[in-house]
Amino acid sequence: MKSIIFIAPPAGGKGTLSEIICSKYNMPHISTGDLLRNASQFEDERGKYLKEQMGLGTLIRDDIIFDLIKERINEPDCDSGYVLDGFPRNMEQAEVYDQIIKDSGKNLGCVIVLDISKELASKRISGRLSCSNCGRVYNSNFDEMKPKMENVCDDCNSPLIKRFDDNADTYEVRYQTYLDKTQPLIEYYNKKNILYHVDVTKGIDYAIGKIEEIIRGE
Ligand code: AMP
Repeated sequence: MKSIIFIAPPAGGKGTLSEIICSKYNMPHISTGDLLRNASQFEDERGKYLKEQMGLGTLIRDDIIFDLIKERINEPDCDSGYVLDGFPRNMEQAEVYDQIIKDSGKNLGCVIVLDISKELASKRISGRLSCSNCGRVYNSNFDEMKPKMENVCDDCNSPLIKRFDDNADTYEVRYQTYLDKTQPLIEYYNKKNILYHVDVTKGIDYAIGKIEEIIRGE
């Protein structure tokens, strides 16, 4: 299976769509945001730095990200493809990732941009909840994304929590960071002829159908 890189503004749906695709095709889901949120729980220097930066909505230093990515994609479950959710996030990361891929004999796969307006993405932020145990994402503002029982995960019955960086102020910074740092990647991957767009405003089933067409090469 081809690897996938998702590019989307914050709350654009990359976490939810990655989870669905990964469980359907049995692929590892590599979310740098999740890896960083886990690392931020430690009371060491790095943990404090991560919590502070993520709370502000700014990007984490590239050297920390490269260590996480190199370690994760070299694990055996990544041998036949994986989904990258949240990486690369700037041009420097994209260029270094090209080299990492080359050195490890892997393929870039395809890059899928999730198209959504800022207004809709910020509406998602206010209702977004995730499972404190398995990380599954829910949204109380959208019927198709509500848990069956309020504040309880459908999969593992654990309580749902709100992400510490999901608030209106941090969202503004995260969105601006996306425009300044991440959006230039769209042209970078377009030039490599591996770029696709999916409209995520038409519902999850529509988006999944389009992503499946892309990975099947239609
Ligand atoms: P996400 O879960 O993808 O929305 O990411 C949450 C936060 O983690 C971002 O606002 C950044 O602070 C940080 N982050 C995630 N991925 C990266 C990355 N590839 N490079 C730098 N910072 C990142």
